[in-house]
Formats: sequence, C-alpha cells, structure tokens
Amino acid sequence: MPRDTDRLTLAVAKGRIFKEALPLLAAVGIVPTEDPEKSRKLILPTSDPAIEMVIVRATDVPTYVDYGGADLGIVGRDTLLEYEAGGFYEPLDLRISPCRLSVAGATPELLERTRLRVATKYPVITRRHFAAKGVQTEIIKLYGSMELAPLVGLADCIVDLVDTGNTLRANGLLELEEICKVSSRLIVNKASLKTRYALATRLLGKLEALLASTAGRP
Ligand code: AMP
Repeated sequence: MPRDTDRLTLAVAKGRIFKEALPLLAAVGIVPTEDPEKSRKLILPTSDPAIEMVIVRATDVPTYVDYGGADLGIVGRDTLLEYEAGGFYEPLDLRISPCRLSVAGATPELLERTRLRVATKYPVITRRHFAAKGVQTEIIKLYGSMELAPLVGLADCIVDLVDTGNTLRANGLLELEEICKVSSRLIVNKASLKTRYALATRLLGKLEALLASTAGRP
C-alpha cells in the first residue's frame, strides 16, 4: 500500500534512542498521541497530523528509510556505519545517546597481536578497523552481552558501545581503543526529500534551529 505524500513517516530506534528522542521531538511539536509502551499499534499518530512514527529495532531503521518504508529515521551512527547501502542523506547530528564504539579486552597486550578473535554485533566496522591496522580477525557475530565472550574464552576481545565504562569495569575488561564517537543521527530517504520536499524541509529546519539554540549545552 503506497504511503500518502502529504504525510511523513519517521522511524525511531527502540529503547534508549527513542526515550532520548522524545523530548527533542516534543520541542518541535511532535508528541505521540498514544503511549508507545502500551499501544499495540505499529504506526503511531502524533500531535502533528502530517507526521506519524514507527518504532523499530535500531538495525531496521536504515532498512526502512533506505527502501522508503519510512521517510525519515533516528538511529545511532554505529548502526549507520554498519549498514553499507544508503538511499538516504544524513543531514543532522541530533547529539542524543552519545557514546563511543571501542575495542575492549582483558589486557592491553591484545593490541600487539596480528591475529584476533573478536566478538561483536558490528562485523563490518570491526573487519574494516582491524584490516586498516593489518590485523587479521576472526569475527564472532553476537546479538547482545558482548562482554561475556572474552570471559568464557569465546573471543580475545570485543567491539561494543561504551558509555560510562561501568559494564566493562564490572566484568574486568579494559577499553583498549576507541574506534569512533557515536551519537544519534537523523536520516532522510533521498526520494522522500523530493516527493515530500515542503514537509521534510520544514521538519529539518525546526530541528536544525532547535539544535543551534542548544549548541554547547550538555
Ligand atoms: P556503560 O556501562 O555505560 O559503558 O554502557 C555500556 C552498555 O550499554 C553496553 O552493553 C552497550 O552496548 C550499551 N550502550 C551504551 N551506550 C549505548 C547507546 N548510546 N545506545 C545503545 N546502547 C548503548
């Protein structure tokens, strides 16, 4: 069923990103009209009649926006770097959910090895990072609790998101190397920017102005 061109669909990554995006969206007049935690509806109307929201797994956000199932998306830079195709623009750093993507393990000597077994949910980024340093990797793809892998001998080290570092410390692991900084980004389907130009640029303009007014604030 084709979507109306007089409406924008915004896909937001579930969990932490969704929670942190809510105040930002509210500040530009977009508030879901039903409680997303209670509603069984998959498409949520908002206080702005021209905008509806879908809340999906982070890894699905680029897919929805790439294929035009959603016009815009809010998702972490980590997920975007891992997703290789890209029928979308990435016009705004929303500066929410800041953290870093890092290599972690039990000892710094691990970084002197020329072969490593790495557990991660980011195989593309991990392979690229170690290949650039001339390190051969065997990648073990996991979907969660990466910190467990070195503890049980499944991997030498991990590549995962680190925020406070508490999870690593609690498991006796060290942050060995930062691969990149991460925060949530707004992405826009390239075709939607043409077919829904006025709506999309109005929302982008409002978010841009809001971010400019809060620049430099923590
Ligand atoms: P921390 O203990 O504060 O360093 O947080 C690390 C744990 O939270 C890891 O399991 C990460 O995968 C997860 N995490 C940290 N920051 C984020 C983020 N911005 N988005 C999603 N997961 C995160």
